[in-house]
Amino acid sequence: MILPQEATAQATSGLDLELIRKYSAAAPRYTSYPPATKFTADVSPQLLDEAIAADNAPGSGPLSLYFHLPFCESLCWYCGCNTVITTRREAAAEYLDDLELEMMLVAARIDRKRRVTQVHFGGGTPTFFPPDQLARLGRRIHELFRLAPDCEFGVEIDPRHLTAAHVKVLRTMGANRASLGVQDTNPAVQLAIHRWQPAQLTEQAFTWLRAAGFGSVNVDLIYGLPLQTAESFGRTIDEVLALGPDRLSVFSYAHVPWLRPAQKIFEFRGQLPSSEDKLAMFAVAHAKLTAARYVDIGLDHFARPDDELAQAQRDGTLHRNFQGYSTAADASLYGFGVSSISSTADSYRQNHKELTAWHDAVRADRLPVERGLLLTAEDRRRRTLIMRLMCDRKLDYAALSAQLGVDVARTYADEIARLAQYERDGLVELSSAGVKVTPRGVPLLRVIATCFDATLTPSANRHAPAV
Ligand code: SF4
Repeated sequence: MILPQEATAQATSGLDLELIRKYSAAAPRYTSYPPATKFTADVSPQLLDEAIAADNAPGSGPLSLYFHLPFCESLCWYCGCNTVITTRREAAAEYLDDLELEMMLVAARIDRKRRVTQVHFGGGTPTFFPPDQLARLGRRIHELFRLAPDCEFGVEIDPRHLTAAHVKVLRTMGANRASLGVQDTNPAVQLAIHRWQPAQLTEQAFTWLRAAGFGSVNVDLIYGLPLQTAESFGRTIDEVLALGPDRLSVFSYAHVPWLRPAQKIFEFRGQLPSSEDKLAMFAVAHAKLTAARYVDIGLDHFARPDDELAQAQRDGTLHRNFQGYSTAADASLYGFGVSSISSTADSYRQNHKELTAWHDAVRADRLPVERGLLLTAEDRRRRTLIMRLMCDRKLDYAALSAQLGVDVARTYADEIARLAQYERDGLVELSSAGVKVTPRGVPLLRVIATCFDATLTPSANRHAPAV
């Protein structure tokens, strides 16, 4: 049944809301395969050390570095990130003391001649750190690692905690991509989520970043928050488009109060929109963004046609890692800081999520790893199939068989047979040459990819709905 408020959005967005409603089951986001829920504390530090050594064999590919800077001044009640809430600025310098120890522990284990093609500061709020502390981190990165001249260097920005001095320091250390947290421009929603962000702060951040030469500016939005409606979220989209972002991430709010108790307040107040309202918000956002000629990259990402993410998708060189879609091909990811995740060709590892445990490990000269996973050859093949589906929206059996050393169509005949249900509804096209996801199937990429996921059982599936 198509609800009245959806009709206009559906007509202009090209989305088939009936099919989304039918198939929007819980599914991993596939920023990794196997998903992070499968990491275990059973992997010995020695095996993970061996995985790092293998990753640094002669001829290894480039590096991607992620730095988790966890502090925030106040909690946004919807937040699902690993944060430490404090107003104590000295926490930044203390944290950097330990971050430097971890960087040296890792630098001693890797081939430092490898080119770094991607750096990302995430949080938390990276600009919680005063400019002099960010400058100190930047110096250390350049001393210990070899950044490529065209390194994609991104920073998550909270416009409420940004100064012109931050922007200058970040640009000086090589940052050239920014991702601004906005979520919703409606003051009533901002009050309901405990994130007051007047429009002029966001506009000021844009002005500073553009003037400093940041090449790509992304805006993060969330739909499904308290008091949002399809109409009000449509206004948010319009106001953000007026700023001219290069990319937008339009995330679905994940309501998990058993993990994030602050979210319970939304239930007490009865302010959460229904799943039907949420779907209507997604349809409005999709319609407005595609009408404004942004390319639907997949999942929650939209980019201008000339943005390198959209180009990479056209060229078949798009990748997916823990930061989402990326152009950093085949880079090994090394994460630093509390809760950060690293990945090599055949291993994942995650740092302690608890600040004290992370501190204690690095001060004892140990890599602060809490859990991880060593991938089997079968895991690696399935990872390739899932990532190619998520990024290219197709599987080319001949090319993948040559790459993986198995006959893909025969080896994964059962998985391919499971796609038949999606073929009947026009979400995929199957042929003897491979699989193609149709435009109707793109919003359900995660669900389609689950056909190749051997880790998913109904009882183990605690992932958020796909839309
Ligand atoms: S600023 Fe970001 S990381 Fe910090 S509490 Fe708000 S949503 Fe969470």
